[in-house]
Amino acid sequence: MKRVYPREEVCIGCHLCEIACIVEHSASKDIIKAFKAETPRPTARNLVEEEGAISFSVSCRHCNEPPCVQACISGAMVKDYQSGVVRHLEEKCMGCWSCIMACPYGVIRKNPVRKTVIKCDLCPERPIPACVEACPNRALIFEER
Ligand code: SF4
Ligand code: SF4
Repeated sequence: MKRVYPREEVCIGCHLCEIACIVEHSASKDIIKAFKAETPRPTARNLVEEEGAISFSVSCRHCNEPPCVQACISGAMVKDYQSGVVRHLEEKCMGCWSCIMACPYGVIRKNPVRKTVIKCDLCPERPIPACVEACPNRALIFEER
């Protein structure tokens, strides 16, 4: 399956990938409305890690044997073995955070308002994830390896 891979050597830490993710997962899909009118503001499903001049965007690896799926007590985290995508079914989520503790990459985030979690869904409505398309430096690559 295709996954999003970061290229640390050309990431400048501009956070445009996070902004693109927020807009893509907003109700309006409009950058101004998403940031200024939607309450709560949508949360990015990727995260730019920075230390000095080093930066890179991390998001779900859509693991072949996902620890988050094994840890989930309610069946809210599921692996679609046809597409390879690991999905979060919010209606089943109990907000126990077991998946957050199990994920070795630290890419599941809390949704404090809804008491559930948020993770990358690879933008199912798009041919290329929004973060990849938004990066001005091709510091995110969507490919099969
Ligand atoms: S959330 Fe973490 S454990 Fe689950 S599939 Fe993604 S990277 Fe793997
Ligand atoms: S927080 Fe939700 S998705 Fe995560 S393990 Fe608990 S029930 Fe499953």
